[in-house]
Amino acid sequence: MTRKIAVLPGDGIGPEVIAEAVRVLEATGRTFELENALVGGAAYDDGGHPLPAATLDLCRAADAVLLGAVGGPQYDHIQPPELRPEVGALLPLRRELNLYANVRPAKTMRPLLSASPLKNHRGAMDLVVVRELTGGIYFSQPRERRNDGKTAVDTCIYHRHEIVRIAQHAFKIARTRRHEITSVDKANVLETSRLWRETLDEMAAENRDVKVTHMLVDNCAMQLVRDPSQFDVILTENMFGDILSDEASMITGSLGLLPSASLSDAKGGKVFGLYEPVHGAAPDIAGQGRANPIAAILSVALMLRYSFEDDEMADRIEAAVEHALDAGLRTADVFEKGTRLVSTSEFGSAVCFKLAAGA
Ligand code: NAD
Repeated sequence: MTRKIAVLPGDGIGPEVIAEAVRVLEATGRTFELENALVGGAAYDDGGHPLPAATLDLCRAADAVLLGAVGGPQYDHIQPPELRPEVGALLPLRRELNLYANVRPAKTMRPLLSASPLKNHRGAMDLVVVRELTGGIYFSQPRERRNDGKTAVDTCIYHRHEIVRIAQHAFKIARTRRHEITSVDKANVLETSRLWRETLDEMAAENRDVKVTHMLVDNCAMQLVRDPSQFDVILTENMFGDILSDEASMITGSLGLLPSASLSDAKGGKVFGLYEPVHGAAPDIAGQGRANPIAAILSVALMLRYSFEDDEMADRIEAAVEHALDAGLRTADVFEKGTRLVSTSEFGSAVCFKLAAGA
């Protein structure tokens, strides 16, 4: 089976962390066809557009996409704004590749428990946020500033089919875990949330192997801080997911730890996805070998799990990361007394070594 991966390192620390992710892919011993392309500021500098047609074509022809991060202060004032890396590359990539399901696992790793701001929480957190990514208030029309300049309008629309397709991803993921979905909405106020809840109830009746419960978003924000270990899969719409996934991710200790997958429909039996660390281009530490490559490496594990159905290798990569941490190796963001400070590439080498040693 060919596994064609489009590799888009991007800007800032993107190329540094993606280099380690690629080394880990190579250390798996599996066969992949990798092809690099420019995206973001790097692509703008090269040819005047943050998402060149050739890059988009490469992504469309691939089975999966591995992305670093885009952006940086030197690109913040490009005119028109549609040529800025995030607006001109990230959003069109999501739209053009129909990446409607954003999946963010957030797990406290045992060796890093003390890095969590919730040091005393009762159990280790191991949850996945499944966020609808291409609908809701971020995309619905009209969105406007009225002529009087004093009134602004955003609109939130959800269609049943959008709810069904994201929920199907959540059911699939729940079946690989503890079979529980917490569906998060604001059904006491919003009509879109009531449709969301009704649709989930119908689907729950047809999928009784997964336990579905509902939670209001304000309660969920509070419960995440009170006891994050109570959640397995959190399924929610676009804006609630944006906020809750950042909250959940920070509980693990560092942005540098968190992978994500943005998934589309299956293509030839395989789920097409774009895999990227949750963090951005981190210009403050770029080029210094200080970036934590864990988020990028774990993004590769997600790629193997979701797009290539290779759970065995995904588990081995995750175990190799945990072994490197167990050995006391830490990049600067999670360094503490008694551990050994290593660079981005030293941490990557340790993961490759553990993987090759059968960790
Ligand atoms: P950021 O995630 O880049 O950085 C926030 C903080 O976390 C910084 O202090 C940074 O040093 C630290 N950090 C992030 N990743 C790290 C890692 N792997 N290891 C160690 N420390 C890490 O967010 P920001 O500073 O708000 O944004 C910087 C640029 O990145 C902006 O141009 C922004 O638009 C862009 N951005 C891109 C994406 C993306 O490509 N998906 C996401 C967020 C931000």
